[in-house]
Amino acid sequence: MKHALISIYEKMPYGLQNVASSAAGLRKRIIERNRQFFAFRESLLESQHLPTVRLQELQAHKLRQLVAHAYKNVPYYAQLFKERGLAPEDISSTADLQKLPLLDKSTVTNRMREFLARNTDRSKLIWNHTSGTTGRPFGLFVDRRVEDMWNALLFRHRSWGGYQYDRLRITFGGRVIVPFETKRPPFWRYNLPGRQVHFSSFHLSEENLPHYVKRLRTLGAEVMDGYPSAIHILARYMAQHGLQVPLKAVFVASEPLYDYQRAAMEAAFTCEVFNIYGLAERCASSGECEKHEGNHHHMEESIVEILDSEGNSVPDGQCGEIVGTSLVNYTMPLLRFRTGDLCAYQTKPCSCGRGLRLMTPVDTKKEDVILTPDGRYISPSVLTHPLKPLHGIEKTQIVQEDRCHFVVKLVQGDGRVSKHDLGELVNALQSLLGKEAKIEVDFVDDIPRTAAGKFRFVISKVPQDHVSSSIVK
Ligand SMILES: [Zn+2]
Repeated sequence: MKHALISIYEKMPYGLQNVASSAAGLRKRIIERNRQFFAFRESLLESQHLPTVRLQELQAHKLRQLVAHAYKNVPYYAQLFKERGLAPEDISSTADLQKLPLLDKSTVTNRMREFLARNTDRSKLIWNHTSGTTGRPFGLFVDRRVEDMWNALLFRHRSWGGYQYDRLRITFGGRVIVPFETKRPPFWRYNLPGRQVHFSSFHLSEENLPHYVKRLRTLGAEVMDGYPSAIHILARYMAQHGLQVPLKAVFVASEPLYDYQRAAMEAAFTCEVFNIYGLAERCASSGECEKHEGNHHHMEESIVEILDSEGNSVPDGQCGEIVGTSLVNYTMPLLRFRTGDLCAYQTKPCSCGRGLRLMTPVDTKKEDVILTPDGRYISPSVLTHPLKPLHGIEKTQIVQEDRCHFVVKLVQGDGRVSKHDLGELVNALQSLLGKEAKIEVDFVDDIPRTAAGKFRFVISKVPQDHVSSSIVK
């Protein structure tokens, strides 16, 4: 159904695509701007100024409520507490969480139904999925409340960059908003009710970039958001050509933000860059404030433990795995969820005075940018989109052997991946990478991690100088 809608959209003329994009924007706005969102927003704008100790008390209070609910309504936890001889009252603080085992993705995937709260309204479930940090696509159920909290957190984060809603925003996202075969501008579509212009992340070639800059100049947008690797392609081009278009702030997410990317964006858009870390699991998000001294943990949303490989808490300042407990997701409560991402709590508070604890930027996916045979730069985050819906697959990796030759490595999981899904995957990648790309699918026994223990989704053997060389001194 989704593919059919995309295919209809792609055949529409430019004007109608803008209507469709705006209609989707209007629908999103109506759903998202609800009473609960505004209540969260108001509360978050106040709680950011509470002292850390007070925020920790707030977390403990929310944890007790969540645990009581999980014990009563979630079969997995009812059984776990019984097996361990625990009562809900035994988990009354963050420290008490250590009485519970860590929870990994495979347990959630394999026992999905047992994690669903019995008293949840099944008609209102929202499915969030991700390509995950271990190479295995992962999904879970959340509800409107979780997404309202996330949107309120996003609002607060953007307010740190001086942005308020209803000012014009440019987004470089992962959605295909301009058909792949489009060779001439416009490479953007409008979401008028959302005061947003979607810039295509799929048409960033040397030939097309001047058109992006020209549109950017005349738009009068206030801020930009999206994948840093995509925005950096534009910023780098502008820096190379001595071009600047002032913005108020740039908000980046979903990938690591490198210093050279930040420097190019600051130079091109003459503003500050604000990084945010969020997960589809909504259990450990954090974001950078105007002081840029680290990421503030959004303590109202989750409890985050930083653990070593043995599962012990590490001291502040020391790096470990992020283990998150969402305090908001009552539909599918996940206590002590292993994210696979690494970071550290910082030892000093932020000079902005907010009580939200500071964390180091999260060491997440380090991937290569793809230079397609027809000369477009593609962000690695965008490239992994077609892999997300795949079922029956344990791990995936895309390797660009040379400019035209791509190998999709797949490790078979418990189920069998269907021929239909495989065909869809190749078609989607072909569209992304262009007609000249040769795509090969290779089933392998395993995909090894790097020497540093990282899993990589996208590897390009084409030299990366075009992307990572520092233009701005
Ligand atoms: Zn701060």
